[in-house]
Amino acid sequence: MRGSSNGIILNQAKAIYHRTNVLKVAIPLSSYCFNLPKFRHFSTNFDAEIGSTSGLSKAGPLGPPLENLPTFAPSMLHHIYNIQKTYPDAVILTQVGSFMEIYFDQAVELASKLDLKLAKKAQTSPEGNPTVSFAGFPVQQKEKYEKILVRDLGKTVVVLMQNSAKIGNGSSEEEKRPVSRILTPGTLVSESFVDQDSNNYLAAVKLSGTKHVSLVWTDVVSGKVRYQIMLHDELGNALARVNPSEILVPQNSRRLDFINETISVYAATAKVSPYKFPPKEMLQVESNSTESKRFYLDSLPSAVQSAYVGLIAYINECMPEAPIDIEDPTEFLAKDVMQIDSRARSALEILESPKGKHGSLFSIIKRTKSFGGGRLLQEWLLAPLQNIDTIKQRQDNVSFFMNQSYVFIRQLQETLAELPDGQRHIQRFGANGSDSSNLLLLASSVRFLKVISDMLERVGYTSPLSTLLVGPLELADDISKTIESPKQDEENKISDYTTSPQILASSNYAYLRRYLPVLLPVTPRLAELHDRQVAIDEKIGRLHSELTQKFGRCELKWSPGHYYYVQVPTTAVKGERILKMNKRVSYIETPEWTALGQSQSELDNDLKCAEKELLDEFKERLGGYRPALRKAFAFADEVDVYQSLATLANEKNMVKPIFIENDTKESVFNITGGRHVTVETGLVLNATSAGGFVKNNCHLSSKKPVVMISGPNMGGKSTFIRQNAIIALLAHIGSYVPADSAELTVVDKIYCRLGAGDDLFNGRSTFMMEMLETAAILRDATSRSLAILDEVGRGTSGKDGIAIAFATIKHLADRTKCRTLFATHYGTEIWNLLDKDTAESITPLQASADLDSSGDLIFDYELKKGVSKSSYGLMIAKMAGYPDIALKEAVEVQNNIS
Ligand code: ADP
Repeated sequence: MRGSSNGIILNQAKAIYHRTNVLKVAIPLSSYCFNLPKFRHFSTNFDAEIGSTSGLSKAGPLGPPLENLPTFAPSMLHHIYNIQKTYPDAVILTQVGSFMEIYFDQAVELASKLDLKLAKKAQTSPEGNPTVSFAGFPVQQKEKYEKILVRDLGKTVVVLMQNSAKIGNGSSEEEKRPVSRILTPGTLVSESFVDQDSNNYLAAVKLSGTKHVSLVWTDVVSGKVRYQIMLHDELGNALARVNPSEILVPQNSRRLDFINETISVYAATAKVSPYKFPPKEMLQVESNSTESKRFYLDSLPSAVQSAYVGLIAYINECMPEAPIDIEDPTEFLAKDVMQIDSRARSALEILESPKGKHGSLFSIIKRTKSFGGGRLLQEWLLAPLQNIDTIKQRQDNVSFFMNQSYVFIRQLQETLAELPDGQRHIQRFGANGSDSSNLLLLASSVRFLKVISDMLERVGYTSPLSTLLVGPLELADDISKTIESPKQDEENKISDYTTSPQILASSNYAYLRRYLPVLLPVTPRLAELHDRQVAIDEKIGRLHSELTQKFGRCELKWSPGHYYYVQVPTTAVKGERILKMNKRVSYIETPEWTALGQSQSELDNDLKCAEKELLDEFKERLGGYRPALRKAFAFADEVDVYQSLATLANEKNMVKPIFIENDTKESVFNITGGRHVTVETGLVLNATSAGGFVKNNCHLSSKKPVVMISGPNMGGKSTFIRQNAIIALLAHIGSYVPADSAELTVVDKIYCRLGAGDDLFNGRSTFMMEMLETAAILRDATSRSLAILDEVGRGTSGKDGIAIAFATIKHLADRTKCRTLFATHYGTEIWNLLDKDTAESITPLQASADLDSSGDLIFDYELKKGVSKSSYGLMIAKMAGYPDIALKEAVEVQNNIS
């Protein structure tokens, strides 16, 4: 490594990459104390043209005053003020030297929320106020505050980073501090606070004609784009399925109300960003399209082109410095996937349970090891397939991994766990200064892919990896020969140092943080520059010894604005040029250090240029391999999901469901020994049930499409109906299912009407919601659908409730004829009201309970044929500690009623 000839150089800084995506730099503390910056880039990036709230700053010809509050350059304040006007809803974060600052009213509003000190400077603000308010934090804490602003406070953040090359050379403010990033929920890529386990979608909506609407969406990390054209009514379900975190809607659209209303109902957590979509003619420009792409893009429907160009323009605007790879959109056909609306998704707790992610179906079944694998599994869970052939292909892959040895699966999982998040790294290129570390990471992911490829080859699994990796492997080799990677033991030290409060508080750390992995002297030019570095290192070492001898103690320092100064004890100063003095130490200028520092600065610039040339070459080569690499990462993601489903199936004794082609229009859903995978896991973990989970059968057919389950509270009715919906869902993603055997025909949509759920925000009471959902099932379900309904009619008076429950089950059995699981407390009442023909289509099942010797209820959870006579409501109340007096009264009333 360059610059290591004498012990005083800060030469052990290393950029390392942790799984959190944070670029961290380590500086051994002993070296740090010398405080001698001597790396490439040190003359750039962190020059503070004006002071900042702390740290070294240039405030006059005599060098660095350390404590004074800054005087703001009026031009800078105007620039920030103008940006605020351009982005009125955003927080503007401005880099000033080693600090990020927030100004004006935004500082007043946010200082307390961010726990920052609010400062005021007597200076006329661009708005004409006599003071300028501001608050700031060190640059190295940027991501921490960005996370709070974007994630916790839901803000859009515009970041103005300082372009040091433009500082002090008469450039305009726009050049000195351009908009380098706009952070919005849908465009987070490399930020360390991105949830790498989840897809993060940005969507754009565009109305086409009076009836149709186009939805285009992308996960910026993968760059995959899908579009769907649908009727207005279908937008809600599509939004619920995609679940974007941000939705672009055309500014000034006449039907904005309709879009907004739909979004607020179906994608309540999404940020709606009105945006001026560029004319679709801009598509060729915005998407950087080549001749070959043109034809395809031109062939897309006009509204899709418009939404797509809006999406790309928005992404480009948010990431002006890091061009993002966005693929051509491919059509998503709703008929290819099983529909799961937002109600079903939350009722089945697919991604979230009431406790958050913990306890969700995803968290219970997930055995994926890579970030990409986790994201793909989520994608599959939200869009199960309709095509039996594709489902069977997936099943075959799962079976393949189920049959591999334990050792093989362990090794595969370990390798997948090490695989860096390749998709994300590909998108990170171009982000300021991170190219060399990114290249290293990419080289490492290519090598991991190769290991996976070899492993798969050994067991005879068909894989395109070896073909896809030919070029990338060569590139990875060249990268490794050129860029020195940090060593493991240093990485550990590094993370200690990067969390050290002293270093975090240091202004110099800010620029050291930018230190990147070293490029080895692989070209004559780089070799020459490295030699120059060694020579300068030696001179600096000698100078440091001389000055130490003269002053007893000294530190060679550098400050933004190219000041080279020496810190010595005040008592030792004898007539040197003093820049600043206090009781203990003084800062003096020496011609030798100034000259040497300037040579180092020049060398840094030369190195930067020489290295950039090499890095650019790598990046260009990489550009050619991007499509192959994307395919390779996508393949590894699939392998991860297959091994995950296989591991789960082996662990939980699951079976391969058999799909029956339903040419005859006959629908079937035959499950024997079915289990609820989440409840079962919960029972094991909490050891709440001595007997473990009790299996149950479920048989639905065209002749008998409805099962009515009655019985006591806590008897297992809800668990049973949910478990069958989950079995259907898992079967359609290609997974094995928790049962002894399963055969079914394809399910086109899962409907859920479960539990109470007020939607008071939209003015809908619990009962109104219940009826809206029930009405949708009766109206829209087909004979291929699966509907689960729990306690329909509970939300109104007893009589009305029975009437509604009866009419609902009759309609489902006689007319809708979808496969239905109907749990109710009105079993006896309904059964007595049913005519013989309808009763023929319904299988009654009952949960039962027994009284133990102390009069408490015991449940066996075994559903048997029949209609339950009692709900044991009062018994359950007793078990729940209902007061004795009240209970007695309830019993009396019950006796009188019946
Ligand atoms: P209900 O809907 O009849 O009120 P639930 O389905 O909510 O009853 O079940 C209540 C609890 O009983 C569950 O949380 C679970 O702990 C337990 N349980 C349900 N079904 C089973 C089963 N098949 N085997 C073991 N325990 C079960």
